[in-house]
Amino acid sequence: MVRVSTEQIKRAVKRLCLQANQELTPDILDGLKRAIDTELSPLGKDILDQLIVNAKLSKDNQMALCQDTGMVVVFVEVGQGIFLSGVYIEDAINQGIREAYQDYYFRHSIVADPFNRENTSDNTPAVIHTRIVPGDHVRIRLSPKGFGSENMSRLTMLKPAQGVDGVKQFVLDTVRGAGGNPCPPMVVGVGIGGTMEKAAQLSKEALLRPVNQDSSIAHIAELERDLLASINRLGIGPQGFGGTSTALGVNVETFPTHIAGLPVAVNISCHVTRHQEIIIYPEVNPDD
Ligand code: SF4
Repeated sequence: MVRVSTEQIKRAVKRLCLQANQELTPDILDGLKRAIDTELSPLGKDILDQLIVNAKLSKDNQMALCQDTGMVVVFVEVGQGIFLSGVYIEDAINQGIREAYQDYYFRHSIVADPFNRENTSDNTPAVIHTRIVPGDHVRIRLSPKGFGSENMSRLTMLKPAQGVDGVKQFVLDTVRGAGGNPCPPMVVGVGIGGTMEKAAQLSKEALLRPVNQDSSIAHIAELERDLLASINRLGIGPQGFGGTSTALGVNVETFPTHIAGLPVAVNISCHVTRHQEIIIYPEVNPDD
C-alpha cells in the first residue's frame, strides 16, 4: 500500500510557511531586479532597490518579509492512488501553520468570527482547497496572503458579448482603483470562466504560478502581456509613488463556462507575493 502520513504533510506545511514568509521566490526577486532596469522614475528605482534590500535582510536575518504574514491559503492535490494515514489532513495542515506562526513569531492575523473579531491567536484556520488527482503523491502549494492587496480584489459577471475587451477594462479598472494600496509592484491574478466561485479560485491559483512563466495557451499568454503593458502605463509605480513598474506580472487562468456568462475575478497581490510548493511521495513501508 502506498501511504503518505499527515505528519509528513504537517511538517511540510510548517517548512513552507517558514520559507514563504522569509524568502522571496526567484521569480519575484528577478522581477524586482529587472524592474530597476526599466523603471523610468528615479524615486521608483530607489524604492525597488529598497525592496530588494528588504528581501535580502529578511533572508539573511530570518525575519518576515512583511509584518502582514497573511492568511494562509493552501491548494492540496491528493493522488487517488495513495492512502493518507494519521490525523485528518486539514487538522494536520492547520497544525503545521500553528507551529510555524508560533515558533517563528509571525503575526497572528486571523479572527474567528467576521463580526466578533476575536483573534484565534495561532493564525489558523487556513483556507484549504483540496482536489483528488491521478497519481500517488501529495502536492501542496501554499501562499500566505496579505490583506492590503486581498482587499483590493474584485469579481464581476460580464456578459459574453463584452468579451476580451470587457475583461481588459475590468482588470484595468480594478488595478487603477487599487492604486498604491496593494504595495506595488503587484502581481495580478485573473480568473476567467467557470462559475462565480470558480473564477475567484482561479484568480488565487493564478498567483501561485511564477510571474516569469507565461500561460501555456497562446491567446491567453498574449492577453497576459497586453494587460501587463497596459497596467504599467497607469503610472501607479512602486509603492504608489508614480512610475512605470506597477506590476511584475499578470497571470491569467481560465476554465470552461456557461453560454450565458463570462465570470471574471481579479486577485491582486503585492511585491512580496509569497508562494511555495512541495510534492510529497509515499513512505515505503516493508510491512505493507
Ligand atoms: S500588501 Fe503585501 S507588502 Fe503590503 S502590507 Fe500586505 S503583505 Fe505586506
